[in-house]
Amino acid sequence: MKQRGILTVVSGFAGSGKGTVMKALLSKYDYGLSISATTRSPRPGEEHGREYFFLTREQFESMIKGDQLIEYAEYVGNYYGTPRQYVEEQLEQGRNVILEIEVQGALKVKEKYPDTLLLFLTPPSADELKARLVGRGTEDASTIAKRMERAAKEAEMIEKYDYLVVNDQVERCVEEVNRIITSRQAAVSNNMELVAELTEELVRMASESGNGEKKKLAVSPDRKAK
Ligand code: 5GP
Repeated sequence: MKQRGILTVVSGFAGSGKGTVMKALLSKYDYGLSISATTRSPRPGEEHGREYFFLTREQFESMIKGDQLIEYAEYVGNYYGTPRQYVEEQLEQGRNVILEIEVQGALKVKEKYPDTLLLFLTPPSADELKARLVGRGTEDASTIAKRMERAAKEAEMIEKYDYLVVNDQVERCVEEVNRIITSRQAAVSNNMELVAELTEELVRMASESGNGEKKKLAVSPDRKAK
């Protein structure tokens, strides 16, 4: 039986550079990135089915009713949610999956799937966060203010996460994220099936070699007698 994949949630303040880190991580290592559904409008350059599935509120609410989302949350006036089918299929096939979602959603995922690895990505400082948000140039001043306010609230939730990764340099950050996920894969608790198989096999082998010992012992006295 194939080992189930690891489910990792990566959250971070808007402007933490999550998108860039995720892109670099996926181009280097094999992870399945879940594409979320949202009711917000596409930013320039974003495509339906690539960054998000861009839906109307009616379409999104019908996914909620149909239980097609693992979790969903409202963030700065829009719905965001994780479609269930892709995540379950990939995990079942043994592929490690990453969800890039905000904190309320992350905690809901952890409730549903307690083995989920929660990872929080942060810029080195609050000043750096503001500078990145302003520099991005895709949001107006009032949205930036809302996002900074939201970041302050999110900071209070970081203690519920398993790991904190400082995004000072993309490459370093990518390696750290990959290392954290890989070491979770090696955790004993994640390998109980293999442990059971190994134990069973070793017990069987030990009992076989135990018989061998008895046979040897049985012939040795004769040898001595000679
Ligand atoms: P943005 O509008 O900047 O693309 O995303 C806003 C926030 O929504 C980010 O913190 C992002 O991680 C989060 N987000 C994206 N997809 C989902 C999702 O499926 N569920 C939840 N709960 N949050 C999401």
